[in-house]
Amino acid sequence: MAEHESPARQAAEANQALAVAGHADMVWGHATVRDPEGRGVWMKAAGWAFEEVTDERVLLVSPDGDVLAGEGNRHFEYPIHTEIMAARPDVGAVVHSHATGAVAFASLDVPLRAVSHDAVSFLDPDVPRFTLTSNLITDAKLGAALAEALGDAAGVLIPGHGLVTVGENAAAAVMRAVLLNRACHTQLQAIQAGGPAVWTCEEEARAKRETVVTPAFLAAGYDYLVRRARAGQFPITGI
Ligand SMILES: [Zn+2]
Repeated sequence: MAEHESPARQAAEANQALAVAGHADMVWGHATVRDPEGRGVWMKAAGWAFEEVTDERVLLVSPDGDVLAGEGNRHFEYPIHTEIMAARPDVGAVVHSHATGAVAFASLDVPLRAVSHDAVSFLDPDVPRFTLTSNLITDAKLGAALAEALGDAAGVLIPGHGLVTVGENAAAAVMRAVLLNRACHTQLQAIQAGGPAVWTCEEEARAKRETVVTPAFLAAGYDYLVRRARAGQFPITGI
C-alpha cells in the first residue's frame, strides 16, 4: 500500500491482507516492513491473528530482538525477518506464513511447475527449500541460514513448516506469498487429478515475469486485498 504511510500502518495492512488471502494459522505467521531509519523491522505483536493486527499491535523489533517501540510480546521467529533484511538490502518487506497449500506441496519434494501464472516468479531455478530444520527459527544463526537458502529468490519453502517471501515493499512480499501458496495449491490439484501433463516452459515463464507479474500487477492485487480487509471481508478459515 502507499509507502508514505507509517511503517506500522504498512505492516498492519500487510498482515490484514494475508488474512484476506487465506494465510491464517490462528495467531501464527507474520509480515514485516523494514524500518526506514535502520532500527529493525515493524512486526505484529504475538497473540494476534492476521486480521486482528492494528497499528497499535505492531512492534519495532531490533536485530537483537529488543522491542524498541509498541506494546506487547514479540514473536519468537523475528530472526526470519531481521536476518533476511540484513542479507538482502533490496528487501523492504518479508512474509512468513504457514499457508497449507505451501506446506502440503513442500512435503512432496517435487519441482514447482508453472501450471498457472502464479508460479512464474518462483522458477528457473526452482523455488529453494530450507531443510536445515522445520523447527522454529528463533536465533540469528538459523535466520542467516534461511537467508542463505533464499539467496536472490523471491521466496523459499520450509518443508514441515511454511513459506517465506520477500519484496521491495509490503505489496510485493504479500502478493508473492499469495502467488506462491496458490501455485503450490494449484499444482497439488493437478497432481490429485493425475497430472500435470503440461505446464509453461521456463523460457515463457521468464517472459511472463516481465508481462504478467509486474510491479503494477503486484500493487493492484495487493490494493484489492487491502480494500477487502478494510471492508472486514475476511474468509472463514474453518478453525
Ligand atoms: Zn513459523
